Amino acid sequence: MAHISGAYITSAFLENTLVAIKRGVELANLPPEFFEALTRPQRILVVNIPVKMDNGKIQFFEGYRVQHCDVLGPFKGGVRFHPEVTLADDVALAMLMTLKNSLAGLPYGGAKGAVRVDPKKLSQRELEALARGYARAIAPLIGDVVDIPAPDVGTNAQIMAWMVDEYSKIAGRNTPAVFTSKPPELWGNPVREYSTGYGVAVATRETAKKLWGRLEGKTVAVQGIGNVGRWAAYWLGKMGAKVVAVSDINGVAYKKEGLDVELIYQNRTVPGPSLVELFVSKTGAEHIKDPEAVFAVETDILVPAAIENVIRGDNVGRVRARLVVEGANGPTTPEAEKMLYERGVVVVPDILANAGGVVMSYLEWVENLQWYIWDEEETRRRLETIMINNVSKVYARWEKEKEWTMRDAAIVTALERIYKAMKLRGWI
Ligand code: GLU
Repeated sequence: MAHISGAYITSAFLENTLVAIKRGVELANLPPEFFEALTRPQRILVVNIPVKMDNGKIQFFEGYRVQHCDVLGPFKGGVRFHPEVTLADDVALAMLMTLKNSLAGLPYGGAKGAVRVDPKKLSQRELEALARGYARAIAPLIGDVVDIPAPDVGTNAQIMAWMVDEYSKIAGRNTPAVFTSKPPELWGNPVREYSTGYGVAVATRETAKKLWGRLEGKTVAVQGIGNVGRWAAYWLGKMGAKVVAVSDINGVAYKKEGLDVELIYQNRTVPGPSLVELFVSKTGAEHIKDPEAVFAVETDILVPAAIENVIRGDNVGRVRARLVVEGANGPTTPEAEKMLYERGVVVVPDILANAGGVVMSYLEWVENLQWYIWDEEETRRRLETIMINNVSKVYARWEKEKEWTMRDAAIVTALERIYKAMKLRGWI
């Protein structure tokens, strides 16, 4: 459980995250007070944002910003717009950011924001009002060297543009570096749109090389074809893998011979048509109505790329893949991971596999702080190098401890850096 002002809040996702962290602290032989420090977020802000809806009525939206730990540098992490997100989930997501940023060697601590809203149900005007309202509400606690939000599930570059504009108005000057993943026209970098998916593809390729000698020709299924999943599928296809299935909430598009990933590039404007529908109508892919059938596809690699807790004890038996690469945050429960481990299935953990988004955020932030602009190729090369190094670092650690999962190796590596920093600063 996470300790918050003497009260306890919890959710299945937070419990699972804490199980993984506790195990990491024990495997690394770090003291229990270090684990306790990690269960206590440094600061939590709860906000209520009034939005005047199109029908003239005021509706309140509850939001959060959890600043988990800034021992390694400014707080950093995205903002999620999702109708079911809870404060406890937000705490878990902030903890994962602390680990992810540490593992990637970035000069950042971890944070996460969230608003309980289904953005699809809002008009553009309402969405803009909510984004600006949230930015105003958290403005006292953020800043370009304090806490730097970015998108997450349900948010995007346009929302970052509204937020950076709102914050700039409050600051009375342009403040590009206070939000990352902005549109390229507004201090963003063109790589950011596909950076998380690209990073997932690089992490998959590097792990496949280590496990099997190569990625080329291996089959892939992608669960959730949103921003992360679509670009992971696209780049994996480009790198020579065969993407045989992709899914969204309406089902699975499956083609044994492989789906033509160019269709993803051609339909990259968001919101665009459903890619599952497009693959079915344009390329003759089979349409399987049950979205969970994506797990049961005969494939070498499975990329869960939507949300947490989708591979659980009750459905893990369906998974056919030999390698699971976590594009989403927290998609595999500890129970499911244990069962996969016993079957010899390797899981590349979220904090390693999906770090491409925050690594790209870091590159954009460095550009913004110096008012500098790198071109797309240069930025992608830097991102790729960092991802390759991260996989090598974790893999080397994992090879020494064969009874560990790859997640254990990643978490231990991340925790050791945080622990050393806390020690050096005299926090513990
Ligand atoms: N939301 C992304 C993540 O979970 C990116 C966060 C960021 O760029 O700050 O890693």
